[in-house]
Amino acid sequence: MKLKSASFFCILLAALLAVSALVPFGLSESAYTKFSRRALDIFDTEITLMGYARTQEEFDRVFDDTMAMLRRFDQVFDAYNAYEDLSNLYYVNRHAAEAPVEIPEELFSLISWCKEQWNNGLRSTNIAMGAVLSIWHEYREAGMAHPEAAQLPPVEALQAASAHTDFDQVILDAEKQTVFFADPQITLDIGAVAKGWAADAVLPYLREHMPSFLISLGGNVYAGEAPLDGRANWAIGVEDPRPDENGGGLMYRDIVDLHSLTVVTSGDYHRFYVVDGQRYHHIIDPETLFPSTKMLSVTIICESSTLADFLSTTLFVLSAEEGLKLIESMEGVEALWMLPDGTEQASSGMGQYLRSLKNAGGKV
Ligand code: AMP
Ligand code: MG
Repeated sequence: MKLKSASFFCILLAALLAVSALVPFGLSESAYTKFSRRALDIFDTEITLMGYARTQEEFDRVFDDTMAMLRRFDQVFDAYNAYEDLSNLYYVNRHAAEAPVEIPEELFSLISWCKEQWNNGLRSTNIAMGAVLSIWHEYREAGMAHPEAAQLPPVEALQAASAHTDFDQVILDAEKQTVFFADPQITLDIGAVAKGWAADAVLPYLREHMPSFLISLGGNVYAGEAPLDGRANWAIGVEDPRPDENGGGLMYRDIVDLHSLTVVTSGDYHRFYVVDGQRYHHIIDPETLFPSTKMLSVTIICESSTLADFLSTTLFVLSAEEGLKLIESMEGVEALWMLPDGTEQASSGMGQYLRSLKNAGGKV
């Protein structure tokens, strides 16, 4: 299925705002209206909150509170800027090799969660790979700013950096809430999970203050209870990774219908630069130290946005076979892979959400 649209949010909004009448919810005397607002200054991305409230003022209050929480996480997770009296990621990366650094709860919780996955053997998403990722970041930023002079990082530099990516050298102390780098050259890059973690962290507040909502952090979507307009589910577009090759301007390959679940996509089209006509994107295979070429995109559906964000990056790096095996071994997690040859692979339970699969009676 393909839908025509100029931008992600035009389509998202068109799909989701189709019916936005006043609908009674809970108490018969109260009426809820669907509102939507965007913020463009947090997490270097577009954040949209859509949800039901009795008045614009009520919605605005929830929106402002939610953005204030996200702004705080953005500062704590910021790898490029220092803030007064805040041991954020920037501070940790500079000082955690000198002595254990006491860090904010949010950062400690995110790093420990990632280390748990590492200890369980899931190592394709390695947030301790900062040394390698920062080289790619530097060359990508330079290449995007000056495409005519775009260059690839020297392989020797990547290899030298990869000697300093062992997560076991990141020592966490849960009691003191400290982090220490036993390898002085190790650094953390939490870009693969930060938005998912942040989405999960605002859910309790949103659930308490709105009967139904949908929040998107740069396409990292969590859909709450079913919308109050009579539909059973929220409809969320799954982007076409190659809209231009597939007719031009066609933004969506498919739609998922769901509620009380998250949808997260990792794609090679999100952030990339071009060297000698070839695209080099932002998801790096720890084995090759180069952008992984196994997938165009991977979409995950499950309850936890942190897990979905982590897994979308993980499966992007794994082969289709390895990824499928992993997802089928997990309870309550579904995935959709878009492969370089234009074909798709879906996990066994994806049919309950993916519109094209439902329409085709279970076949991609
Ligand atoms: P996502 O879009 O969620 O797949 O995250 C991509 C971001 O995660 C990149 O911009 C990097 O900051 C980081 N990243 C890329 N490759 C890896 C990797 N193999 N392990 C951990 N983080 C990665
Ligand atoms: Mg991710």
